[in-house]
Amino acid sequence: MMDNFEKLRHQMVETQIVTRGISDKKVIDAMLKIPREKFIEKKFYPQAYNDHPLPIDEGQTISQPYIVALMTELLQLTGDEKVLEIGTGSGYQTAILAELSGEVYSVERIPTLFNKAKNIIADLGYKNVFLFNLDGTEGLKEHSPFDRITVTAASDKIPQPLADQLKETGRLIIPIGDRFSQDLIVADKIKGEIKIKNYGGVTFVPLIGKFGVTE
Ligand code: SAM
Repeated sequence: MMDNFEKLRHQMVETQIVTRGISDKKVIDAMLKIPREKFIEKKFYPQAYNDHPLPIDEGQTISQPYIVALMTELLQLTGDEKVLEIGTGSGYQTAILAELSGEVYSVERIPTLFNKAKNIIADLGYKNVFLFNLDGTEGLKEHSPFDRITVTAASDKIPQPLADQLKETGRLIIPIGDRFSQDLIVADKIKGEIKIKNYGGVTFVPLIGKFGVTE
């Protein structure tokens, strides 16, 4: 028997994810599996599977399910990759990435969010996730290079340390723009050069840090 959240999760995948063109079965299965309600406050439970971001602590957001699915699909994960995620937030996308890759290194600058995400990720039993409370614009040099890098906050440029820590043939995804208008950028490293594709308009909180934007 499906519980109510499970039913809502199936509806969410059908009406928000599949109909918008997400077709990677592994991404769909992960979106069907991960309990989004565990990453939000109880007062938002009725909206847990709605088609929009939701507030988490400190003025930050858990991303819209479709955007999580799109960014994850664009990472083209096969199961073995070492992934760097900048902006753990609630930890929801971290769990999705943990289902689909070898190791996930996720960095969050705000201590309360880092601590909460740490508890949830431990409760869910992931052993391939490593969380850091740092400025993610500097990347994680000691664990680099990464096969994939995903940034879940918007900057005016790709932070240079992240480009440097991306493996040859690796892929980096980041929203680029100002606070009002941003595009989702996919950057592939080919023969040491970064080649960019634009996947259209998105809205994210700012990437605040040394190689990002100022508060
Ligand atoms: N994908 C996340 C989820 O599913 O909950 C949502 C992430 S939220 C849109 C963006 C996060 O990036 C926020 O938690 C914010 O604190 C964090 N952030 C912003 N600048 C950062 C930085 N320089 N380093 C690490 N995290 C940062």
